Amino acid sequence: MTDRTETRARLLDGKAAAARIQETLRPRVERFTQAAGRPPGLGIVLAGDDPASAVYVRKKVGLGQAFGLRVDLERLSAAAGVDAVLAIVARLNASPDHDGILVQSPLPPGMGADAEQRVVEAIDPAKDVDGLTATSVGRLVQKRPGLVSCTPAGVIRMLEDEGIAIAGRHAVVVGRSDIVGKPMAMLLLHRDATVTMAHSRTPDLEAVCRRADILVAAVGRPGLIRTGHVRPGAVVIDVGVNRVTDAAVVAGLFPEGHRRLEVFRQNGSVLVGDVHPEVEAVAGALTPVPGGVGPLTVTMLMANTLQAAEAAR
Ligand code: NAP
Repeated sequence: MTDRTETRARLLDGKAAAARIQETLRPRVERFTQAAGRPPGLGIVLAGDDPASAVYVRKKVGLGQAFGLRVDLERLSAAAGVDAVLAIVARLNASPDHDGILVQSPLPPGMGADAEQRVVEAIDPAKDVDGLTATSVGRLVQKRPGLVSCTPAGVIRMLEDEGIAIAGRHAVVVGRSDIVGKPMAMLLLHRDATVTMAHSRTPDLEAVCRRADILVAAVGRPGLIRTGHVRPGAVVIDVGVNRVTDAAVVAGLFPEGHRRLEVFRQNGSVLVGDVHPEVEAVAGALTPVPGGVGPLTVTMLMANTLQAAEAAR
């Protein structure tokens, strides 16, 4: 019988990778601030009272300020209309003190089905630190320099930082959102991976995923990716962040005695990724949730703000 500990995945430490990237950004922030007579500036718009959004925004403001960036948070109530968001975006577009603009998603449903699209297209592409405007997406597809969505950019930096080869390998990206799945696939393609994109209409997801040397899950379904989806030794990147409050779901994720089960019992909820914890026994390397991709996402937001600031000078 093999010792279980011998077969467990190497855990990819996102906090440590983020800290290393941050060290390379710090002197650039200082140089910019001295030369420009002001720090790089980021304007964040938070509309409504989605609790997860509030947590993400707090992290972005906290890290940005710790970094010496100017971060201004503009809050709107859930009852605000899309015009209020557009007015703030217009002001930030014109502001000489703001290099980056981020409108936290999701916008309140009352703003209408096309609100996100209208807001994204109102952002000056030079300040589009989320990489969502048609200009940013077009530049990415054409492999031209530009601002790239923070989470997929962070995943690439993590793979590079960990010395994980991408060229020539088969990457499967599960999820095809504009903010994660699509740019992730494009970045892997540009690094010469052979890329498959999977989504909710993909038949036999298990078989598709098992072909991956590098499997990226960006779905939003707790524990969707099981051992049956993972070729032994594959690199598994878990982008999903799901707050689970249902005891039955948690029981299906963590065996009795698991540390995370204790977290759930204490807090009444637990954060889990799209990758089932059992995958740790099969994967070669795996990003934990929390502490994997998340810290890189916030760090890349700082990197993008700095990039936009430097480009504007
Ligand atoms: P999204 O816009 O809801 O997209 C989810 C994607 O998953 C869609 O393309 C959907 O397919 C696909 N999908 C849904 N159910 C599926 C299934 N059963 N099998 C295969 N594919 C399925 O979500 P997102 O914004 O990309 O975010 C995905 C996850 O990443 C969420 O948990 C989010 O919280 C997390 N996230 C984390 C970070 C971070 O910093 N760690 C940053 C951003 C997002 P269809 O297109 O066919 O509907």
